[in-house]
Amino acid sequence: MPLSHIRSLELLEAMPDATIVVNHRGIVLFANDLFLQLVGFERHEVIDEDVTRFLQDKNIFDSCMTSLGTAGSCLDHETFFIHRSGELIHTVKSVRPLESGKEPFILASIRSLSAVDSRNRALEEEKHLSIHSIEKLSMIVKNQKRQLTSAKRQLEEVLAVIDEIIWYIDDNTLDVIHVNRAVESIFGVQCDDFISNPNLWKSMVYPEDHQKVDAFFSLSMEPGTSNTIDFRIRRQDGKIRWLHNRITHYPKLNMFIGVTHDITENKSTQELIEFLAYHDPLTKLPNRVFLAEKINDKIDRICSEHCAVAALFLDLDNFKYINDSKGHEVGDEVLVLISARIKSQLSVHCDLIRFGGDEFIILLTDLRQSSEAEECAGTVLECFSEPFNVNDEEFFLSASIGIATAPEHAQTSSDLIKHADTAMYAAKRSGKNQFRTYDATMEDDIKTFLRIEQWLKEGIKAGYFNVHYQPIVDAKTHHLIGFESLIRYEGPGEPLTGPDNFIPVAERTGDIIRLGATIIQNACRFARHLIELTGTCIPVSINLSARQFQDRQLLDMIKNAIYEAGIPPNALVLEVTESVIMRDIEHISYELDRLRETGIKIALDDFGTGYSSLAYLSKLPIDTIKIDQSFVRSLFHSQRNAHLVKAITTMAKALEINVTAEGVEEKRHADLLLDFGVKSLQGFLFSKALPHEQCLENIRRNSPVFTPVKHASDPSTPLPDSTIHIA
Ligand code: C2E
Ligand code: CA
Ligand code: CA
Repeated sequence: MPLSHIRSLELLEAMPDATIVVNHRGIVLFANDLFLQLVGFERHEVIDEDVTRFLQDKNIFDSCMTSLGTAGSCLDHETFFIHRSGELIHTVKSVRPLESGKEPFILASIRSLSAVDSRNRALEEEKHLSIHSIEKLSMIVKNQKRQLTSAKRQLEEVLAVIDEIIWYIDDNTLDVIHVNRAVESIFGVQCDDFISNPNLWKSMVYPEDHQKVDAFFSLSMEPGTSNTIDFRIRRQDGKIRWLHNRITHYPKLNMFIGVTHDITENKSTQELIEFLAYHDPLTKLPNRVFLAEKINDKIDRICSEHCAVAALFLDLDNFKYINDSKGHEVGDEVLVLISARIKSQLSVHCDLIRFGGDEFIILLTDLRQSSEAEECAGTVLECFSEPFNVNDEEFFLSASIGIATAPEHAQTSSDLIKHADTAMYAAKRSGKNQFRTYDATMEDDIKTFLRIEQWLKEGIKAGYFNVHYQPIVDAKTHHLIGFESLIRYEGPGEPLTGPDNFIPVAERTGDIIRLGATIIQNACRFARHLIELTGTCIPVSINLSARQFQDRQLLDMIKNAIYEAGIPPNALVLEVTESVIMRDIEHISYELDRLRETGIKIALDDFGTGYSSLAYLSKLPIDTIKIDQSFVRSLFHSQRNAHLVKAITTMAKALEINVTAEGVEEKRHADLLLDFGVKSLQGFLFSKALPHEQCLENIRRNSPVFTPVKHASDPSTPLPDSTIHIA
């Protein structure tokens, strides 16, 4: 047979692609095992057959011959071979002439596109390499065919110049019998060293891949089969390389013949792509995709393994403020620090996942007791006791955590996360900086929240919210010294809820910004009317919520409202609660200072309900303390509270801070408060909050509570000198 002297065709048997050699008439002279697998025929059914028998397009052979005649080679992506079963196999094939003797032969290497797995498809380069190596092979065969005297020498020469490692390995000991020079550049070891030390290659396999390689040779390689494996080697210079290997077993030779490509570059790109698919590029933490896979995997197993999975949904409190005031770069750095700190506190059985923005999930698998999840949440919250430093600036943060466990609270991964999220919202609503464990009633809270949110939005749009004013009176004369603005719903039907409930919703949704602006404008207009009607400045108080301080426009907006109403700044008092100040004492004190510089007065609302530290009173930029109504109500039941009210009043006097008592409903309360030295009172004993017009009408009628004191305790400044001017 004419092919018999092209001994290097033996080598084609070890090629990573299906390979055939045909003569110029298209008769198949050689086919390797991979080709037989591809078309599903036995060797004797293929050899000496017309190649077109296996081709869908019978003209393809002729067009290939034409290309060979003109271009010298032919690479075709669209060749369909016919499988024995009749199924069409989409392939890419590369065809080159292989001259030997008188007759030209044609070498075709064929790769099934359907069989190529996704990784191989990504390894475009590998395909390139195979085609390239065949090209070289045939060139060498072509150039040297006349000089080669023995098939062995020819084979060795061929092996010596191709870029892939071709090795012969003993199928029993896995020792290297022969290897070509390509090993030198890939392994960084002399070819002779490999031959003299047949075990050397095994010692260079990357430790973590040892098992995989052993298993491959002992389990995956059925006698006479061909298979692929990727593994790493660690070179003597410390470099790690990824190798893609096609190994074919030749039982008759008791040998594996391997063809190996260095795919390190492909691999590192692929690893990067995989890393990015499963990780957050900023914090390098696993991301949602990772979570979904891990959690699904776990949830499927928990029932059988009698253990539980817990998800801790963590959301940073007020993180938006850092982004808004310091910029996203600082925000990003803070997130990185937070991730690292939390991670350092978690056990190896926990996964910390960046869920998005300032949300994280801590996944606890193999949970034995639900208390473990709560312990973990406590540990995580402690991470926030120390500040986070970025660019020499300290950021104090806190977080709210919701806990849900499967199977107790959820059977599916999406429910687990949803319920943990619900519990996190509950933690936020209960004042942040805490954790809460899911229970079903939280869902009702959320529904209520959503109903209020909807009602609020519609009400704001329709203009159903208005401001009423409650008089503040002089404790001695019970004459008018100020008003507090309180928001009221004036739309159709009953209000869904009172401001105590809907203001927090408006804070969360951000609606408070718009609502707050309307309240401020109304209050300024009311103050203007008071001045016009009475000729004196009767200060009007406005309640400000925490969220309004995050709005950079706040100060300008207030100045504008004052300017437009044409009132002096001290006709306005801004009420903030202790909890608002303590949330971010530095930032809010700074803002309050700037407001005070303009002449606006500041009152500390609900005093006694929060931190109630008398020690810091002197440090805060405030003019008035408003003692919370719970103290007033308990004046005659709780001696402790009575003492406290007295102490606050004494201390405030020393600090030249005014004291107003709220919620005064009974005369005996008003009397006792006066005794304690409280200067001003507010409560239903005098009047509830009334609409703008009604207040003015009561003033016109000289109704006692609405009669201004001759000398208001807060000295007013006549118009227009002190009106602030907008820069
Ligand atoms: P707050 O600032 O402590 O307002 C005083 C609350 O006490 C008002 O309730 C007022 O109607 C009520 N009150 C006054 N005197 C008495 C009394 O003698 N007895 C009793 N039981 N209650 C009395 P309201 O209007 O329901 O407001 C509740 C809270 O909602 C306010 O507490 C304030 O925190 C918030 N809020 C009300 N209006 C606004 C607003 O315009 N802006 C903001 N940000 N918050 C507001
Ligand atoms: Ca208030
Ligand atoms: Ca209050």
